[in-house]
Amino acid sequence: MTENLLNFDADQLTAWFAGQGEKPFRARQVLRWMHKAGEAEFDAMSDLAASLRGKLKQQACVRAPKVMREELSEDGTRKWLLDAGMGNAVEAVFIPEETRGTLCVSTQAGCALDCAFCSTGKQGFNRNLSVAEIIGQLWWANRELGKNAEGNWPISNVVLMGMGEPLLNFDNTVSALHLMLDDNAYGLSRRRVTVSTCGIVPAMDRLREECPVALAVSLHAPNDALRNVLMPVNRKYPLRELMAACRRYLEKAPRDFITFEYVMLEGVNDSVQQARELVSLVREVPCKFNLIPFNPFPQTHYRRSGADAVRRFCDVLMHADIVTTTRRTRGGDIAAACGQLAGQVQDKTKRTLMEVRT
Ligand code: SAH
Repeated sequence: MTENLLNFDADQLTAWFAGQGEKPFRARQVLRWMHKAGEAEFDAMSDLAASLRGKLKQQACVRAPKVMREELSEDGTRKWLLDAGMGNAVEAVFIPEETRGTLCVSTQAGCALDCAFCSTGKQGFNRNLSVAEIIGQLWWANRELGKNAEGNWPISNVVLMGMGEPLLNFDNTVSALHLMLDDNAYGLSRRRVTVSTCGIVPAMDRLREECPVALAVSLHAPNDALRNVLMPVNRKYPLRELMAACRRYLEKAPRDFITFEYVMLEGVNDSVQQARELVSLVREVPCKFNLIPFNPFPQTHYRRSGADAVRRFCDVLMHADIVTTTRRTRGGDIAAACGQLAGQVQDKTKRTLMEVRT
């Protein structure tokens, strides 16, 4: 069987090399070639012994998911649709800004959480992505965009905010995180890598112990009654437990605040009264808020809150000394914005078949 070496973090690669009778520094060399140089061909790994190159060529490969389509937004946002096999596709989104380049990465094909306002949830859960499929998004995007004038990869920040729930694909997500942080791979600081979760409490505790990085929590409601409706996961991990888990996470987090994401749904969760309730909910958690304009998709009855409602909501939080930003929607014209990622391959295939028939 050919082993895809993108599936291994440094420890796992070292173990695999040891199994081949090879020294740890060989694993380190290959890690650097793959991730620092973006190299996929063993023949090009010039400081490896010819015999080792030959062996690797027979037994291993470096394979990221296949890109099925690339789309470029008017604002420079890029979206790649990646083949996850068996009719599944996932998406990765690159968001260029003046001082940084952020890649939004998917961790599952589909999603089991079924949040009422999210299009990924509508397709149900298909499967967990492998480490190669998660880190492969970063590997591919960097290579595609090319190194900048200083010889650095253009992606300075990674957010695990694409399709799926990273903490429900825990082991693969953590191996991918190790690679993002590893100086022999991408060398990103823990503060520049953000895991976004709907609030899987026990997994938040594990992440704090095993690989603490910046944490964003999708909140979206100020009380359990409404959050139960919007996010079914709340019935399992209600707000009191979630707030306690956030406080515990901060004991080891690389940043001294949690980012709460809050999607603004007109007439549902955007009143001044609800903003006040939110302030008292998070009183004991050092946090920042990120208000996300709702991004519509077909088959939704929710609407985006008006600018006035967002401003009033934001004012209440700011008056309570909570730093609050409103997320600028990027890539909306190519359905690359939050909650719009759906990997619409299956639909498209159906349409093509119909076109062929008529
Ligand atoms: N499962 C993780 C990762 C998904 S991140 C999580 O729940 O955090 C994607 C972010 O976009 C989440 O905060 C999610 O709640 C939000 N989102 C989902 N659908 C959206 C939509 N239609 N418009 C705006 N934001 C949305």
